[in-house]
Order: sequence, then C-alpha cells, then structure tokens
Amino acid sequence: MNSYRHDYHVHSCFSHDSRASLEAACQVAIDRGLDEIAFADHADLGPDFPQDYFRAPEYLAAIARCRARYGEELAVCAAVELGEPHLYPDETAALLDAHDFDFVLGSAHYALGMRAAWREEFFVDPLHEAYESYFRQVVRLAAAGDYDVLAHVDLIKRDARQFGKLYDGPGPYGDMIRTALKSVVERGKGIELNLSPLRRGQPEPCPSLEVLKWYRELGGEILVIGSDAHSPDGVGAHVDLGVEIARSAGFARLATFRERQIDWRRI
Ligand SMILES: [Zn+2]
Ligand SMILES: [Zn+2]
Repeated sequence: MNSYRHDYHVHSCFSHDSRASLEAACQVAIDRGLDEIAFADHADLGPDFPQDYFRAPEYLAAIARCRARYGEELAVCAAVELGEPHLYPDETAALLDAHDFDFVLGSAHYALGMRAAWREEFFVDPLHEAYESYFRQVVRLAAAGDYDVLAHVDLIKRDARQFGKLYDGPGPYGDMIRTALKSVVERGKGIELNLSPLRRGQPEPCPSLEVLKWYRELGGEILVIGSDAHSPDGVGAHVDLGVEIARSAGFARLATFRERQIDWRRI
C-alpha cells in the first residue's frame, strides 16, 4: 500500500544556515518517493541572527518555479519557520500579512531572557533550570504565537545530547509540556514530529513517542512530520520511521496546508 509521505520541514538557501537549492531538494524528495515537501525557511527575529536574509518575494518566486517544474510529481508547500513569533508580534504580522504562505511553523530557539538555547554555554548546572527555562518559552509561544504548527516541542534535548549532557525529561517538565500542548489543541493548531535528532544518531525524535501520546490524549489531531534538513541529502530522511511512530501514537493521518487552511492525508 502506498500511503502518503511528506517532509514538512526543509531548509533552503533562503535560510541563513543552508546553501541548498530548492530544485535539488525537490529532486531528492521525488527520488525518495515523497508526495509533498514544505520549505520552512528561517525567519528568525532574535538578536543572534542576520536580519533581512529571508527575502520572501524571491523565496515565493522560487517556490513557483519548483511548482512549474516538479508539480506533476511533487506537491510543494510555501512555508516559513518563525523564531519566537510571540515575542515579535508586529514583525510577524507584517511578514504574514505581506506574503501568502501556505504554512507557518512556530519555533522556540531561545530560553527565557533570550538566552540562546542552542549554544553549549546554555547547558550549565543546574541543567534542570536550563531545561525549565526553555520549556517556559515553549509554553508562552504555544499560547500566544501566530503559527499553524508548533515545531520540535522538546528541541532542547537534541542540543543537550549533542553536547553530551544528560536530559532527564520529559517527566520533570511534563506539566509545562502538557500546558503547551493544551494551548495548541485549544487554539486549533498542531505540532510537528521533528526527525532531526535521528539524523544525528540520537535515539528519538522531537518530541518522543511518550510526548506524542500526551498530545493525542489531550485531543491533539493536527500533526506534520519534518526532517529539518539543511541540505538535500537529508530531505525525507527517516520519514518512514516517523510515520510508524505517528501511527503508534494513534495518528491515522497527517495534516497538509494550503494558504494556512488544513487538509488531511491518510498514512
Ligand atoms: Zn527550529
Ligand atoms: Zn528548522
């Protein structure tokens, strides 16, 4: 049986940390049998990122070229990954009002106080305070940000493990994670199953199966799967495993988006 497969979190050269051409990523997606790809380039408004590198008109023109070239074989979704949209509501509204995106990922990359949660110096003892500070940001984002899908809910564990630090979650942070997931459900938003830890040899995606089940128990239905690939060779990596994990958590379909309206595909 050929069930639907997508990669809803791919970066291209419109992200400050990727050189990938959209065409190369589309070709890999087709070669790997995906039905759909979403380019979710970074629009990070925080102080650590170069501003204005995300050139929306050029990006959308590149999407249109990909649709013209690959549209018969691959659905192409125009997305954006907003960093901390709840902290930059005016900038976020200006970007989203000015351009027609299909899909918006909302991401927490900073802990409270705009501490860069992807840097090694963030992971100092007591580690649980660092993790709490990250999840508090996720709670605020989930409740107030303009997004369709909350990205990589427990991303902090990926970078912790990358730096060889122990991650003792999700249990000790369960209240905060559930609070965030409740906001997602109440607002009619979704979450992402982010597979990027698997590409780094880590044992579980963001979030883990356990947290995905919490989301389901809280009434969560809207789910997308993304590799978070920053180069074409990562496009679609581990998506079959992601689908298996989603099914184990009780999901029978994935969400797709056009003009920020949801549609469903069975898996
Ligand atoms: Zn991210
Ligand atoms: Zn990303």
